[in-house]
Parts: sequence; C-alpha cells; structure tokens
Amino acid sequence: MSKATELDQLIQKYALQNAVKHNGKAEIGPVIGKILAERSDLKSQAKEITKRAAEIVKEINALSLSEQKNLLNKKWPELLVEEKVRPEEKVLPPLLNVKKYKEIVTRFSPNPDCVLHVGNARAIILSHDYARMYKGKFILRFEDTDPKTKKPMLEFYESIREDLSWLECKWDSEFRQSERLPIYYEYSKKLLQNNQAYICTCNREKFRKLIMDSKPCPCRNLSPEEQLDRWNKMLGGTYLEGEAVVRVKTDLNHPNPAVRDWPALRIINTKLYPHPILGSKYSVWPLYNLASGIDDHLMGITHIIRGKEHLTNEVRQRYMYTYFNWSYPETIHYGRLKVTGAILSKSKIRLGVDEGFFTGYDDPRLATFKALRRRGIVPQAIRKIIIEIGPKTTDSIISWENLYAYNRKILDSTSNRYFFVTTPIKLIVEKIYKPYKTTIPLHPDYKQRGNRSFTVKPTNNTAAFHVSSNDIKLFKKGKIIRLMELFNLKINKVDTQEVKATFHSEPYSEAKKIGAPLIHWIPFGEGVKAEVVMPNASIIEGIAEDECRKLSEGTIIQFERFGFVRIDQQKEYLTAYFAHI
Ligand SMILES: [Zn+2]
Repeated sequence: MSKATELDQLIQKYALQNAVKHNGKAEIGPVIGKILAERSDLKSQAKEITKRAAEIVKEINALSLSEQKNLLNKKWPELLVEEKVRPEEKVLPPLLNVKKYKEIVTRFSPNPDCVLHVGNARAIILSHDYARMYKGKFILRFEDTDPKTKKPMLEFYESIREDLSWLECKWDSEFRQSERLPIYYEYSKKLLQNNQAYICTCNREKFRKLIMDSKPCPCRNLSPEEQLDRWNKMLGGTYLEGEAVVRVKTDLNHPNPAVRDWPALRIINTKLYPHPILGSKYSVWPLYNLASGIDDHLMGITHIIRGKEHLTNEVRQRYMYTYFNWSYPETIHYGRLKVTGAILSKSKIRLGVDEGFFTGYDDPRLATFKALRRRGIVPQAIRKIIIEIGPKTTDSIISWENLYAYNRKILDSTSNRYFFVTTPIKLIVEKIYKPYKTTIPLHPDYKQRGNRSFTVKPTNNTAAFHVSSNDIKLFKKGKIIRLMELFNLKINKVDTQEVKATFHSEPYSEAKKIGAPLIHWIPFGEGVKAEVVMPNASIIEGIAEDECRKLSEGTIIQFERFGFVRIDQQKEYLTAYFAHI
C-alpha cells in the first residue's frame, strides 16, 4: 500500500466513524485528532493531512447514514462495536409458545367511543411490537357493538387510526365488529341448538338471586327447539329491550358468580340509540365476551395481550371455546398502568370536552395522544417507556416526569434552540461604542445545522433590547449581567417599565469571573410575538427571535432557559405548546 493510499484509508476510517456517530455528518477536527492520536509520527504532516481530510470528509458526508454504516461495517467493523457497547436498548421478553403457531397474530381492539390516551399505549405497543418481533400480523379491530352505553362515534374510528399511525404501529388488517353481526348470530344459533346457551326472559333481579345461589332459572332447561323459537322472536322484534338475553351456559357452581351463565347478546332499541354506521338495522347486539371470543378464534389471534382486568373474561370465554372445540389463544394479562395526575377515564374526558371545560380532545391538560402530540411529546418516548415496563403483571406507575425524561433525551439533540423572552421589558444600554454582530449555532452540538445572527447597531451609543421581566426582577442597581453571546453590562436603574444599563465589557470570561448571570435578549423592535400554551392551559406571552418565523407548524424546538415547545400556529403571531423543561 502506498503512503498516500494508507493515509486516505486512515482518514476514511475515522471520518466514517465520526459521521456515523454524529448522525451522518463528520467534522474534520475530531477526525484529525483521532488520526494524530493513532499516528503521532504524522504530526509533521498535519497541514497536508488536514487538506486531504477536508476532501474525504466532504465525500463521506455526501453519503447517507446507512451507506456510511454499511461501509464502516464492511471495512472496520470493530469501530461499529463501540456503538453497540452503549447501554443496551431494552427489548421485550420473548412470547410463550411461539413455536406452536405458524404465524404470530396479535390485535388491538378499541371501542371507538372516545379518543385514545396514554393508558392505551401499552396494549397498542406491546401487541404491535410482538407481532413485528416474530414477523407476524397485527390486527386493528373496532369493537363497536354497544350503541347504547358505550356508543361508538364516527370521528373516533378515524382518530384511533391516526393515533396508531402516529405511534408507528401500522396494522396489517382492520375489522369492524358491527359489520360482523351475522357471524355472531350464526355462532349463537349453534350454541342454542347444542344446548350450550339459552335465552333468558326472567326479570333481572330474579335471575340474579338464582344465579347467586347457583340455581338455574326456568329458561335454562327449555329444549333447544324452544330456545330457537325465542331466538327467532328476539331477532324478529317480539321482545323489547331488556326482555331477553342470550346466556352461555357455564358451571353454575363456579366460585366466581360473575362467571356463571354470562350474557352473550342482548336487545338494544336502536330506534332510540342508533348505531353511527348501521343506524337501527339491528336490535340484537353481542356483548364483549361473545364477539371478541369468536373474533379472536376466527381471526387466528395467537396471543392476546391485554390488562389483567380481563382475567375473568378468559374464564368466561373458555366455556365457549370448549363448546366449539377451539383452542384458546395464549394470553398475557399485564398489570395496571397508572399515570399520576392524568385523567384516563373516557367518560370524564368526553364529558369535559362536551361541556366545554376542555378546549377539545387535544387540550393540553389531557393525556390523550392528540394532546401529547400537540405538545411535542414524541411517540418514540412513549414506546421507550412502554418497552421499559414490558408486559409484567404487577401494576406500574409512571409520572409525567418519567415521560418527560424520556422525551427530553430524544428532543435534546433533535431540537434546535432559540431565544425567547417572556413578558418582555425594555432594557436600554448606553455607552456602546461600536456595532456588534453575534452568530450562534442552532444547536451547539450540531453546528452543521446552521446559525442565526443578531446585529446590534447603537444609535448615539445607545441600543435597546427586549429582556424577560422574570430575569430583570432579580437584578439591582450596580449589578453586572451578561446578555448571552453578546456582552456584559452594568445595571443603573430598574423600574417596572424599563431598565437602564451601561456597557461594561465584552468577553465572556469577564462575566464568568464575577459570576454574572446570563440572560436572553432580543434587539428591541425585532422578534415575533409569541404565545406559549402551558400544560395547565394557561398562556405565557413573550417575544421569540426573528428566526422562529421560518419554523413550520409541528416543529419541536427548545426555547433556551424556558423549555421544549412545539410550534402550533404561525399566523400574525406564533403559538407554541409547551412540552416540558
Ligand atoms: Zn331465565
């Protein structure tokens, strides 16, 4: 190998490593550093190496990150290992009995009677990720068969799809239980014919008393012919709402009375409570255990991943599975997930929105995915927290702070930084004898993302700034402060309307030496008026730097010394939603 080629290889090696480490963009400084650390004999050729390195770094930066990784892996795989040594990404524990099945199939089955919230994340992400882990299928099934007490609404079908897409949980097929009523009827009829179910027309109280005593009601022992007669009457509208219920037979002595002869279908007056899609086409509607039990079998669900509040449902459904000679899917019943301080009750969410207490389903006080999205909580943070907790059966509590910590870790490197001055007050600085221009990178660790500049041109040696009244109220006459990245000044006079100061010195070292506070600023008359909607729905007003005008809606940024925000609207002024500090 010639000397020149050898040097090129060396540069390429470290440039690739640096690029892979920094999201595809290598920086020349650290590359040279690594080369000279490895080969101190090359120090005398530093100039030549720098020149050549500039060319090679440019070539490498033109490649995509995955091309860079491939190349690095091909030529110097040992350098990729360093990446892998970092704290292991937590992964889900394996599913049980995977080998029993040709293909793993999971499902998420929401009732579209409300929007989804962070409490649903576990069912969605675990079901989806397990399906992906085993290259199986993930099914979205709308369980919309209760037009009365858990009435589905059209808008929620779509918002659920939106939320799943946002969470990066793509589903392979979609079902709506309300279009499968003839299927449930068919299986119900079989149960009735086989003496495995009956239609009870008893008064509810009377039935309850009997079942608590493990005694059959008179309907239970009627012949299958009589059951079918009742079934036809039920479908034909002879019975009214509340007058007949199909019950699946179980052991009447089952220790849990809630399991005994569970209800499978009932009548709903859809003239009064029309279904949003089917109107009043049907009046006999399946209940959860019948519909979901049949569907899980017919859809080939191999693993049901759901909360442990469903444990009793498994016991109920197993009776039906035995009657049909089906084998029950594997089940994972995870523990409850509490989110401290979050409203996770659908009825409370809906009521709050309907009554106007919340501005909508994306009100920042809610823990709905819509609200989290609007505030700049990213789906990757939610996924991390869910994978971290995994499918364990014990209850877990997460706090907003936990979620914020995960989110912050992601946003810290992805969000550019800007100046934002809250409840601004005018600061007048005298004795500035020359103009100043300061250029600040959008992110100190990712200089390749670009910069923004501020120019301060004094008139009569005086310039004015917007500064935050929160900062200023801490300052007294005679105190030295530093306008971040600009210069140091001495406070002369503070009042509620404005602050007067004199230029003190330029270097940061000076400010550091005396421990002067650093504050944000915006040249007076510049900047864009901004409103930040806080998590408690209050609004903080301020001025953001001019560069923020260029940000498109949906961009998540960091207002320095304030917090992460998501740009919500760019109109005559800017509206942002606060994520967290
Ligand atoms: Zn009865």
